[in-house]
Amino acid sequence: MKILITGGGGFIGSHLAERLLNEGHNVIILDNFHTGSRDNIRHLLHNDFLEVIRHDVVDPIALEVDQIYNLACPASPIHYQRSPMKTVLTSVMGAIHMLSLARDIHARVLQASTSEIYGDPLQHPQKEDYWGNVNTIGPRSCYDEGKRVAETLFFDYHREAGIDIRVARIFNTYGPRMCAYDGRVVSNFVLQALRNEPITMFGDGSQTRSFCYVDDLVDGLIRLMNCQDFTGPVNLGNPDERSIKSVAELTIELTKSRSEIVYRPMPQDDPLRRRPDISLATRALNWQPTVSLEDGLPRVIDYFRPIAEHTAPLNKRPT
Ligand code: NAD
Ligand code: UDP
Repeated sequence: MKILITGGGGFIGSHLAERLLNEGHNVIILDNFHTGSRDNIRHLLHNDFLEVIRHDVVDPIALEVDQIYNLACPASPIHYQRSPMKTVLTSVMGAIHMLSLARDIHARVLQASTSEIYGDPLQHPQKEDYWGNVNTIGPRSCYDEGKRVAETLFFDYHREAGIDIRVARIFNTYGPRMCAYDGRVVSNFVLQALRNEPITMFGDGSQTRSFCYVDDLVDGLIRLMNCQDFTGPVNLGNPDERSIKSVAELTIELTKSRSEIVYRPMPQDDPLRRRPDISLATRALNWQPTVSLEDGLPRVIDYFRPIAEHTAPLNKRPT
């Protein structure tokens, strides 16, 4: 098949592109390289079945493909809060343009939604029928509400124009090629630990997240895209819930670091708990994650080791 990945130069998109190329598909990566990088896909550029287009999804585009994975959007709080209006535009206009394209060429289109649509959840673990607890006007709202509108658009286009849609609600994902400077907890803790710098704990570290290894996530996305008669929304994530403090301790242990934990204020609207209920994904897609944090984290540590040696410390990172 010919498959378009918007945001294919990013962390998840580059792994998805690699997997689809390995399966023998033609892949088009469309990216404005706002938060992604050519370095993420450099090892794929020799492949004749790959095409890369620099393009912003805020603008329309005409292409002929069979499937569209719509991943274009900055994903970490530091990045999406840097230009909040652009974040909203990317989610909303990106969804409209990919849905319109899918309608014109009769393609199937998958939206990368997020656990953030549940906000600071009052239901635990989160099931797909939970409507969420989201602040409409806070610093995270540009991302959370942008993604919520994108889901709305997907289902409106599906109901009104019969577009063949899929919606994945992705929970915290980690792995090699995460951006070193996007402030996410795994990249921050690993780089800090490798440099024996203080580990920055926001709040007391009792807040929780559930971390999914990128290969598992990509497997779930591909299963969702290719299953019949199932639109989602469906949670894709690892239900193994961890406190952020325990993630810091595991990172220190695995890196044999001399780092100490320092406590910083909790960012505004930071969700206290997050764990996907994945019974729907297990039932509908026969999917569940296979890589534990104990197995996945060492692969991220190996990826970041040379980066830790050759780049500026986190407290001197570019803004
Ligand atoms: P990423 O920042 O590494 O990748 C996003 C890619 O989209 C980048 O290559 C970026 O340059 C591109 N992009 C951003 N704005 C664009 C625009 N206007 N036009 C074209 N390209 C644009 O992030 P990621 O972690 O790979 O996330 C990929 C998708 O998955 C995002 O939609 C994100 O919201 C979603 N998601 C990720 C996570 C996670 O834990 N990583 C969790 C939930 C949802
Ligand atoms: N966090 C932390 N120290 C850091 C970066 C993040 O304690 O250096 C916390 C953050 O406050 C949040 C959790 O780790 O509670 C996950 O943060 P991340 O930005 O990775 O993901 P998100 O909040 O978007 O789920």
